[in-house]
Formats: sequence, C-alpha cells, structure tokens
Amino acid sequence: MGGRAAAADRGLGAAALDDPVPSLRASQVFMVLCAPALLVLALAVVFVVPEVLRPGAGPVVLGAGVLAQPVALLAVVRHRRTGRPQGWWSVWATGLIAVLTACVADEAFRQTAVTALVVGPLYAAMFCSARSMLGHLALALVVATGLVVDLPGDPLVRASRVVAVDMVLALTVAGLFALRARLDAAVARAVAARDRADVLAARDPLTGLLNRRGLRTALAVRPPGALGAVLLDIDHFKRVNDSLGHGAGDEVLLRVAGVLAATVRSEDLLARIGGEEFFVLVPGRRPHEVAALAERLRAAVADDGGLPPVTVSAGVAVGPVPDADPAAVDSAGPDVVDALYARADRLLYRAKQEGRNRVCSETSTRGARPA
Ligand code: GH3
Ligand code: MG
Ligand code: MG
Repeated sequence: MGGRAAAADRGLGAAALDDPVPSLRASQVFMVLCAPALLVLALAVVFVVPEVLRPGAGPVVLGAGVLAQPVALLAVVRHRRTGRPQGWWSVWATGLIAVLTACVADEAFRQTAVTALVVGPLYAAMFCSARSMLGHLALALVVATGLVVDLPGDPLVRASRVVAVDMVLALTVAGLFALRARLDAAVARAVAARDRADVLAARDPLTGLLNRRGLRTALAVRPPGALGAVLLDIDHFKRVNDSLGHGAGDEVLLRVAGVLAATVRSEDLLARIGGEEFFVLVPGRRPHEVAALAERLRAAVADDGGLPPVTVSAGVAVGPVPDADPAAVDSAGPDVVDALYARADRLLYRAKQEGRNRVCSETSTRGARPA
C-alpha cells in the first residue's frame, strides 16, 4: 500500500503526526522575500526620509540591509541542503531588525518596535532548536536591556526594570520550550506506537510471516514485471491436530514456514494467509520458473526430515498483471493478489484432487504421489 492510502487509512490526525513541524517551503519563501524587503526599506529610509534616523545612522542602516542578503542566501542554501529550518537565520534577521530599529530617531517608535522583537525567542521556543532558542533569548535580553538603559530616569529603577523584563522573558521562553519538548516527545511516542501497530497488523503472530494485509502492503513496492503466485496447503493437516494436539500442529506450521522461508528468494513475498495455507508472490520470473520454484518448495517440505512428516500441495498462477505503478498501486495491489489467489486456488484444488503432495500449474502437474 502506498503513502497515499496509508495516510488515508490512518486518518488526518495520524497523517499530521508525520509532519509536526510547519511547512519548510513557507519558511524558505519567507527568507527569500524578507532580505530584499529589508534592503529596499533601508534604501528608502536613508535616501527618501533620512530625517527619521538618528544623526550618522545612515551607513549602519545601509550596512544592515546589505548584510541581510548573504545571510538569507546562505540560510536558503543550507535549508535546501539539509531539509531542516535554519534557526540561526532568524536570530540574525531579528538582530538586524533590532539594529535598524535602534537607528530610528523617534524614541516612542524605538520603544514600541524593539519591544515587539521579544516575539523572536517565543517563536524560536516553539519551532527552532535549543541553540537557536538560546540565541534568540540572548538577543532579546540584550535588546530589552538596551531599551531600558536608553530610557531617562533613575538608574536604580531602570536596573530593576531590566531585571524584571529579562526574568519574565527568560521564564516564559523556558516554559514554552519545555512544553514543546513534551509535545515533541508525545508525538514521537505516538508515531512509534503507530509504526509498531502497522508492523503487527502486517504479520501473522504465530510464524512471523506476512499476513494477507502485509502481502498487499509489500506488493506496493515490488519490482516491475511479471508476477507469479504459488498457493501451498499442508496435506491432511487436520490429522496432525487430531492425533498429536493443537500445540504439535502449531509446531508443524512453524516448521513448514521456516522451510518455505529458507527456500524462497529475498525478493519473493511469503505469507501465511489461512490456517495451513501459505502464499508466495514471485516477481520477475517466467511461468516455468515459478512452477519450478513451487516444485522446490514442495520437495523441501517433503524432505525436511522433521516429525511428524508432512507434505504440501500447491497451485501455481502467473500474470499477466499490470506493472506496479506507484501512483495506482493502492488500487491495483489487492486486485492483483485476489486475481492470482483465485487462479492458484483452483489449481491447488486440482492438486488435492489428483492425490496431494504435488504442484499443479496452468500447463502441467508435477510432484510425487504420497506414499
Ligand atoms: P487437505 O489436505 O484437504 O488440506 O486437508 P486438511 O486436513 O489439511 O484441511 P482441513 O481444511 O480439513 O483442515 C485444516 C485444519 O487446520 C483445521 C484447523 O483446525 C487447522 N488449523 C487452522 N489454523 C490452525 C492453527 O493456527 N494452528 C493449528 N494447530 N491448526 C490450525
Ligand atoms: Mg490442508
Ligand atoms: Mg486449507
């Protein structure tokens, strides 16, 4: 089963668990647009309304606007390379905005705008790494301190204001970061539990082989080309249960599963899909090769030397089936399994009718008659 169907199976909430971080593309676009916007703003202020700046601040404003370009470019390049958000970039951007804001002559504007910069560490605490969060926090503390120092009034009062502002900010950011860490851990646990459940749901608990659901899921990633199927059924298995008990029957199932698993290729898909029925999907082999594999499986079980001795009968069916198209495989997978199973089942029935311990394919019957 492909990603689309898997996500649909799990529901919207579970699909969202796969991507708890906000869109990376959106933050790339933001980075690409933000730096030129900052430069345009700096140029406009310096050349159109220089009177809004403190005396002599023009070069600083221009320098900050120009410096924003390589910083944003580097962030976008690293972002594309690593696929991870570049938290350090937002520290730099906030720093540059703080520098620009500090250059504004109007004191009321400076205070309002610089105060707004404390949003940076709060954002970082929710979405960025611990390092970026600490960078943002340090920057905000410096900016807040600078803002308070810049105010007129009694130095002691100003110092106590700095401490109060810094403490509230640091505690808020730390609390937010701790909350986010807990949420991240809870999401990671939920994803791990879902993945474990997916694995369990795809496996037969007795033999550990794929079950019918797992077979369909695995079929979604099979190599392209012809697909063959071998359906095997243990002969007179009920007699094992009746004479030796259910526990011994389970042992036989485990033994047969082990023999089959040791005989198929790694790219073949082996599943236990009924009580004592095993199904092998064989990609990329011609009909006579699939029949030969079925015969090898039959012989391997008959000759394995375990007690009680058992045999299997097999039906073999081979494509044509459509190649695995990743986009269409969700709908094609089950149809392919069902169609091949139905054809192989008819041939298995014939193998039973003809005396068991044999392989029936669409063109021939092979195998030994039971003693
Ligand atoms: P045939 O050669 O025609 O296939 O005969 P058979 O006895 O193998 O087939 P039948 O369908 O009559 O019996 C299958 C038995 O498999 C019946 C059921 O109790 C047993 N069985 C199914 N699942 C399990 C299992 O998980 N463990 C054990 N021990 N037995 C199982
Ligand atoms: Mg049977
Ligand atoms: Mg059966």
